[in-house]
Amino acid sequence: MSEAANTQTQEDVAIQLIGMHKWYGEFHVLKDINLSVERGEKIVVCGPSGSGKSTMIRCINRLEEHQQGQIIVDGIELTNDVKKIDEIRREVGMVFQHFNLFPHLTVLENCTLAPIWVRKTPKEEAEAVAMKFLERVKIPEQALKYPGQLSGGQQQRVAIARSLCMNPRIMLFDEPTSALDPEMISEVLDTMISLAEEGMTMICVTHEMGFAKTVADRVMFMDAGEIIEQAPPQEFFDNPQSDRTKLFLSQIL
Ligand code: ADP
Ligand code: MG
Repeated sequence: MSEAANTQTQEDVAIQLIGMHKWYGEFHVLKDINLSVERGEKIVVCGPSGSGKSTMIRCINRLEEHQQGQIIVDGIELTNDVKKIDEIRREVGMVFQHFNLFPHLTVLENCTLAPIWVRKTPKEEAEAVAMKFLERVKIPEQALKYPGQLSGGQQQRVAIARSLCMNPRIMLFDEPTSALDPEMISEVLDTMISLAEEGMTMICVTHEMGFAKTVADRVMFMDAGEIIEQAPPQEFFDNPQSDRTKLFLSQIL
């Protein structure tokens, strides 16, 4: 794509992956990934297990390192420069399948740990911010409990609140509901929908196709380390182009 053909300004683009490749040893896990996410855009990523979805989003905040091509987040290119990695991690929140809360800390302490120790926010201020986000995810009354005392859906909402406490401009979700009992899925999806409505830039790996239809600006299908196709949800579901996408959709819908 030439500069002239690119009508988006740098300001509009939250995330850009350009000709990105990654290998795990000899294994070529991501192949020529090209993706541009606008500010406020919501992307849903789906695809079979092992297709590289987690690896792709983990590369965006450098939980994994790519070997070729460019990753640019909020205008900052990811390189080995530790300062830039820190800058990008400030911008990007991540929520995992298995919550990853600290079991020996209360909900409130989980939410204030990074603001206090990484951002040097005074404790009282960090706690006030944490309570605001715990209210947002509708569990302020759980603040003094430990993660083990909460349901899976509540723990995942704590994980979302914890991310929001760092004031990210971009949120990455890696199958946030796939470890949950069915009756808890909607409370987490509702939280994500409200974040989306507030304009958060989001990349969500999920097989919740109802969520994709409601929230996504674009649905992307990955297989064997490649982006096979991407389209607005209606087009994606009504008229998938690739046989691999059709097969995948027939298996999950
Ligand atoms: P998905 O999230 O789509 O299920 P992943 O990104 O987790 O896929 O994995 C893509 C492929 O890379 C899989 O074949 C997986 O086994 C492999 N893989 C993932 N993490 C590692 C790793 N740390 N080392 C080696 N191979 C890995
Ligand atoms: Mg995965």
